[in-house]
Amino acid sequence: MNRRKFVSQAAWVSAGSLFISPLLLPGCSAKDLFSGMNYEGRVLIIGAGAAGLYAGYLLKMNGIDFTIVEAGAEVGGRLGKLTGFADYDIDTGAQWMHGRHHILGDLAAKAGTMLTRDETALSYWFNQQIVDALPRDPFIFEGEALPDISFRDYAHDQGYGPEYDNIIEAIAGDQGAAASALSAYWNYKDEENWVSGDEDYKFRATYFDFFYEHVAAQVIGHVRLNSIVSEVDYTSDTVAVTLSGGEVLLADKVIVTVPVAVLKLEEILFSPRLPAEKTEAFSRFGMGPGMKVFLKFTHKFYSDNLLGGAVCAAYIDDTVGKVTQDHVLMAFVMGDQAAALHALGSDEAITQALLTELDLVYNGQASPAWLASSIHDYTDRPFIRGAYGYSTVGMGDARSVAARPVDNKIFFAGEAMNTNGHHQTVQGAVESACKAVIDLIDGVAP
Ligand SMILES: Cc1cc2nc3c(=O)[nH]c(=O)nc-3n(C[C@H](O)[C@H](O)[C@H](O)COP(=O)(O)OP(=O)(O)OC[C@H]3O[C@@H](n4cnc5c(N)ncnc54)[C@H](O)[C@@H]3O)c2cc1C
Repeated sequence: MNRRKFVSQAAWVSAGSLFISPLLLPGCSAKDLFSGMNYEGRVLIIGAGAAGLYAGYLLKMNGIDFTIVEAGAEVGGRLGKLTGFADYDIDTGAQWMHGRHHILGDLAAKAGTMLTRDETALSYWFNQQIVDALPRDPFIFEGEALPDISFRDYAHDQGYGPEYDNIIEAIAGDQGAAASALSAYWNYKDEENWVSGDEDYKFRATYFDFFYEHVAAQVIGHVRLNSIVSEVDYTSDTVAVTLSGGEVLLADKVIVTVPVAVLKLEEILFSPRLPAEKTEAFSRFGMGPGMKVFLKFTHKFYSDNLLGGAVCAAYIDDTVGKVTQDHVLMAFVMGDQAAALHALGSDEAITQALLTELDLVYNGQASPAWLASSIHDYTDRPFIRGAYGYSTVGMGDARSVAARPVDNKIFFAGEAMNTNGHHQTVQGAVESACKAVIDLIDGVAP
């Protein structure tokens, strides 16, 4: 996702110039974590995405015994990397660091990581032509006065006609949702506390590499891959975590970091069942179809960013901020559009649908210039089951209820559990991990 866009050129910056005090970091200050922690128990973390890895990183820094169990064959979850498709490495999941006033911005600053501030301009496919500005501003989804209706209904109520539908779809798609499913009010309320900053940054290497080097590598020796958790029994003081092969792991506390879609689908059985208020809260989250499609071309014939396609509402030049001779356009497809492409059933059919739309928009230039595609579909990806959690109509307090610990034994983290306004992001996942670790330690304090 690429939340915020500005109109000028991208510029290289060294993250060293972005340093901010850890005391300013929301929800997870150094003071909270490193004063007098003294926990002797064993912790088991389920999931080795950003949240699980960061929880392990904090526990390791504090000398606490922990294991991370990951269902997949690799760490990273929705952070992933594609090599060999182009002459630079591509982020298949998270790509932009949104703002810099957060834990990871601080980490990047301290490490002197090279970032590019992405300030590329938006253009629109509107009434069958490419335009740089629209007659009316489509970014209308902020403010207390928004009703709890969908983005699409709100735009229609405000007099935006069908010619704006695919542009509204792109704005909702940024939140991982179809415009018909995302609540105008709750999306705003959930984001009200956003303090990361409004700029977007891209990594000179990849977000995956940055996270791997500075976080994952520190805990990789504690990760058990290919270990699918099927059941968590917290009936007694010691929690028993059963893997799909039948092996049982014991722990005093468990941090669950699986995506909210996995919790909604009850792919992990809790015994006793989780409180009804929690399962009901999970059910109020949306988390639906989403994919990134990378299209490699012989040359650039497309805009840096184009919003408003009927097949894909957001086409983005993936090479911005990279050192490359290649030309790669990313189709960022979410919601109903992702469902429609997913239903086509093959990479060839998805590529063809996108090329047909690009030929229409760019006067037949796409197909002759096309070299290759790489498709990363999260729609039914095992152990992920969608793009990222969004706020549906009727969301209410679901996010904070979902994030609450159970019995001082089961703690919840992951992007969807972030209650600081940073859900749907890597920093949000990390902050939620930080909160879970603090709750876990606090719970044992006298
Ligand atoms: C296409 C796409 C683009 C994105 N772009 C951006 C971006 O530009 N910037 C940004 O900040 N964020 C972006 N995000 C969001 C970001 O990737 C996520 O918010 C973040 O990575 C989520 O981390 P997590 O730890 O909460 O979950 P995950 O990364 O999903 O980790 C959860 C882990 O749990 C594991 N698991 C699930 N079930 C089980 C089980 N039964 N047993 C054991 N393990 C299990 C999974 O395999 C997974 O590894 C994007 C996401 C997607 C999908």
